[in-house]
Amino acid sequence: MWLKYMQNIADNLTQVRRLIQHSAQTAGRNPSDITLLAVSKTKTPADIEAAYAAGQRDFGENYAQEALPKIAALNHPDLVWHFIGPIQSNKTRDIAEHFHWVHTVDRLKIAERLNHQRPAHLPPLQVCIQVNIDADEAKSGCIPTETAVLGEAIRRLPNLHLRGLMAIPQENSGAQPFHDLAQLAHSLRRDGLMLDALSMGMSADMALAIAAGSTLVRVGSAIFGARR
Ligand SMILES: *Cc1c(COP(=O)(O)O)cnc(C)c1O
Repeated sequence: MWLKYMQNIADNLTQVRRLIQHSAQTAGRNPSDITLLAVSKTKTPADIEAAYAAGQRDFGENYAQEALPKIAALNHPDLVWHFIGPIQSNKTRDIAEHFHWVHTVDRLKIAERLNHQRPAHLPPLQVCIQVNIDADEAKSGCIPTETAVLGEAIRRLPNLHLRGLMAIPQENSGAQPFHDLAQLAHSLRRDGLMLDALSMGMSADMALAIAAGSTLVRVGSAIFGARR
């Protein structure tokens, strides 16, 4: 039973890696420029362990409260934890102390708290700015025209390392928001910001996101199965 279940996750990972490789090659991109982030929200440490055994190293969590016990339970020094959920001010310390990356910084106050709370013995926290790329009222994210100012401010914070942009477009909105995010990153680079990461694409749309330039796909259900 347990072995079969582990095998499922391993098989799913193989399928997802194939799709990433195929999408990259179709787009004329190098597959090794794309990092697969396994989104483990609602999943158990045993699920994560199964993915780890199948070679997965980068994991994404949405809620600090849920993530911390899992991070503590998994003792592999080469695991890389990405925070990808909405950030409440009272959770910044947990994120600053326990994660390697945070994809969802969308305002200066949060960036400053993370910078202040990042422990001195750890390397800078890797940061993406979440952009509300399709002006979805229900969603958090910096509005595109304010991204340059926020990016400049983050660049000056010594315990943060600005890496790129992240977006969660509305379902079934096709390739356009991914191209818009890539275009925004391009114009910020032209203006002098160093950005090498584009966090976009999930189980249903990773191929479209990769075609548009994604370097970090965040994939949950295609690896771990549907969430309750
Ligand atoms: C849940 C989640 C994902 C993964 O979604 P799937 O459709 O299960 O692949 C990716 N990104 C974010 C921000 C999420 O919250």
